[in-house]
Amino acid sequence: MYEKKEKKPSEDKPRLTMLSELGEFGLIERLTRNVTIHHPGTLKGIGDDAAVIDAGNKVMLISTDLLVEGIHFDLTYMPFRHLGYKAAVVNISDIAAMNGIPKQMTVSLAVSSRFSAEALDELYAGIVTACDKYKVDLVGGDTSSNVKGLTISVTVVGEAKKEEVTYRSGARTGDLLCVTGDLGSAFIGLLILEREKSVFRVDPNMQPELTGFDYQIGRQLRPEARTDVRNLLIGLGIKPTSMIDISDGLASEILHICKQSGVGCKLFEGKIPIEEHTRELAKEYKIIPSVAALSGGEDYELLFTVGQDDYEKIKDVAGITIIGHMTAAAEGKQMITPDGKSVAITAQGWDGMRK
Ligand code: ADP
Ligand code: MG
Repeated sequence: MYEKKEKKPSEDKPRLTMLSELGEFGLIERLTRNVTIHHPGTLKGIGDDAAVIDAGNKVMLISTDLLVEGIHFDLTYMPFRHLGYKAAVVNISDIAAMNGIPKQMTVSLAVSSRFSAEALDELYAGIVTACDKYKVDLVGGDTSSNVKGLTISVTVVGEAKKEEVTYRSGARTGDLLCVTGDLGSAFIGLLILEREKSVFRVDPNMQPELTGFDYQIGRQLRPEARTDVRNLLIGLGIKPTSMIDISDGLASEILHICKQSGVGCKLFEGKIPIEEHTRELAKEYKIIPSVAALSGGEDYELLFTVGQDDYEKIKDVAGITIIGHMTAAAEGKQMITPDGKSVAITAQGWDGMRK
């Protein structure tokens, strides 16, 4: 008698891996697992803020970023000029994170017919303003039509002396963990813009109420790259042992440094620099202020480590805060709360906060 054989679904089709199972970093690791470096001049490939390429007595730094409408920006509240400025700045920030000097840039666009030339003029006005401010030469790019929406890809080339380059992997046990500026305001700015957007949707005649939040909204819509930190540290006689820019949130960036340097850390929650008004606004939004700094992202400040011997040089510098120190890997990645409790640092990241 014919016996019906039960088929397991897996016999038909191999189970496919959902991208959500991997996450962004897991996906990058998976896609690049078979990549081989063919040239000894490729000093650093994938895995830092920029690639590092030997260029004789100097190194060339290359970094690229993609901005996708609906994912990275919302044109409801993002003026084109600001968008262009931000697209340039977030790339320049990656060169600053390598302790380099940004020099050239290419800009590529995929744009649907929904946009006017005037809108794109504005976008380029923003890009050119950033290029003028940061002394970067726009040297090329590519332009394509798009089925839907706007996608911008920017690549920045920078330069440094080989011994100046700061990698994510250079932190050592005992190093001091430092951050420039203040954190969390860009995320609060985004919450304000999102809130006003929903008001706008309910009543299209209503003007968004944005006055009084200039700092937070400015941090979100018009961030700056900390290219000044390089000279500040040279002036102090300090070479950071590692450095990264804060694009995804303090927690995620600390974990990158720990992972790539093979160390742990002790971060003191009470030391995280947060602007006073941002602190108040966070509470209004029922967000613990440090969480806005740890998980919010887009502040584009620099996170770096320096040797313990540099403590005297750095401890009183305005605009730089020592927020903790690096430990042996076995001690884990800890955050010490103001009441002395130790909690594990996890990269909740952007997505985790908003869902
Ligand atoms: P950042 O936040 O500083 O821009 P990312 O987290 O985007 O850095 O990227 C981490 C590293 O992975 C970088 O070295 C980057 O060049 C590399 N990378 C990202 N996406 C890809 C990809 N699709 N293929 C190859 N390398 C990638
Ligand atoms: Mg970066």
